[in-house]
Amino acid sequence: MSTEPGRVPNVLSVAGSDPSGGAGIQADLKTFGALGAHGCAVLTALTAQSTQGVTGVHAVPPRFIREQVETLVADVTLAAVKVGMLGSADVVRAVHELAQEGLLPNLVLDPVMVSTAGSRLLDEDAVEELRALASHADLITPNLPEAAVLLGRDPQDMAEGPAQMMDEARALLDLGCPRVLLKGGHASGEHVLDLLVDTLGAHELGGPRVATPHTHGTGCSLSSAITALRPRRDSWLEAVTDARSWLVGALEHGHELSVGQGPGPVHH
Ligand code: PLP
Repeated sequence: MSTEPGRVPNVLSVAGSDPSGGAGIQADLKTFGALGAHGCAVLTALTAQSTQGVTGVHAVPPRFIREQVETLVADVTLAAVKVGMLGSADVVRAVHELAQEGLLPNLVLDPVMVSTAGSRLLDEDAVEELRALASHADLITPNLPEAAVLLGRDPQDMAEGPAQMMDEARALLDLGCPRVLLKGGHASGEHVLDLLVDTLGAHELGGPRVATPHTHGTGCSLSSAITALRPRRDSWLEAVTDARSWLVGALEHGHELSVGQGPGPVHH
C-alpha cells in the first residue's frame, strides 16, 4: 500500500490539543511534517495545559467531530489516520462509528488515558468503548499501564520482561485488532523493549533507554510517526522500526529546547 514515489501522503490525526506544543495534535502535526507527510487534524478536545500539567479539558461535541471528518474526507484522500486523546465515551463511540463506516483507513489507535503528570485524558467509563474501537484499528499502541487497563488488570501490576509482555500483547490481540505495539518504556531498566505482535508472530524492538527528562509527548509522537511512515513503507514492521529510530533522535535532542518548568517535549 506504499504511496506512489514522489507523492506526499495525506495523513490525519484525530486527537486533543496541547497548547504547550509538546503532545497532542501539535506534536502530531510536527511529526507528520518532520517525516514528509501532509498533516490534517480533527480536534476532539481542547486542553488547558503547560509542561507542568493539565488544568482543564473542553470537549468537542461528537456530532462536530463527525462533521469535521466527513467534510475533510469528502475532499481529501487519506493514506493513514492516527487516533489519540478522545476524552469521553460519547466521543469514542463517534470515532468508532466513523471507523466502521470506513472513513479512517490504516488506523493507528493510541489508547491515551492518563498524562505522564497524572491528569485523566479519558473518562473511566469510556474504557469499554475504547476496547470496541480497538477492534477496528489496524494497530494499537498501548504503553504498559494502558495495556493493563484495556485487559481489565490493575495498572500497578505492569508486565516486566519479555515473556510477561508477550502474554499481554497476545491477550490484547483478542480485542480484535490485527496487531499490537506494546510499549515497554514504563518498565524499569536501562534497556527499553517494545513488542510488535500480530497473529503470525512477534518482533522484539529494543534499545538503550535515552536518559532524558524531556519525554512529554513521546507516545503521541511515536504513533503519529508510524502513521506518517506507513504509506511509504511496505509493512507495519518497517513503519514501526523506522518510527522508533526517529523517536530516539527526537528524545536525544529534547535538551536543546527550553519549554517551561516541567518535563519538556521531545524535539521533533
Ligand atoms: N495532552 C494531550 C492532548 C495528549 O493527547 C496527551 C497524550 O497523548 C498528553 C497531553 C499527555 O502527554 P504526556 O503523557 O506525554 O505528557
